[in-house]
Amino acid sequence: MARDRVGVYPGTFDPVTNGHLDIIKRGLGLVDKLVIGVATNPSKDPLFSLEERVAVVERETRTLGENAGVTIEVVQFDELLMKFAERVGADIIIRGLRAVADFEYEFQMTGMNYQINPDIETVFLMADPKYQTIASRLVKEVAMYGGNIAPFVPGRVAEEVVTKVQSRT
Ligand code: ADP
Repeated sequence: MARDRVGVYPGTFDPVTNGHLDIIKRGLGLVDKLVIGVATNPSKDPLFSLEERVAVVERETRTLGENAGVTIEVVQFDELLMKFAERVGADIIIRGLRAVADFEYEFQMTGMNYQINPDIETVFLMADPKYQTIASRLVKEVAMYGGNIAPFVPGRVAEEVVTKVQSRT
């Protein structure tokens, strides 16, 4: 039997959005096991702690994995993405592409990653158009100004973002 195909989907997930979840759902069709890497990313000064982000991603993706019959592991990481991908035995790295704005950065990063390890492919997926413009940063901004974030994140996440934003102000 062929070896299981392992994918890594890295991100900050501060917080996980409907855009991330759509990419994860699509990614599940490509692999036998999906490792969702939650980056510590202290430089981004995340709203949620690393532990909170891991727990929320685990909770919000559990049913997706079960429905697809694919194992999902949510793992924190604080190292070069390629090192992390090698460590978990990944065949592919999955990234979501939103607009041209993402392209420049992803283009450079993938080019450099190919030089570090040419055997791990990076695969770009597009979310459904209705989720394409969602970004964690904007979700937080809308919440800070009291706007409705319900269309952009799962219900419980929306509540958690509002609570967190209020506790910070
Ligand atoms: P990063 O810190 O790398 O920007 P994010 O948590 O913002 O991490 O995103 C992780 C991945 O998900 C990235 O590849 C990003 O482009 C992708 N992504 C985020 N939001 C969307 C979306 N609405 N549609 C498609 N891809 C997305």
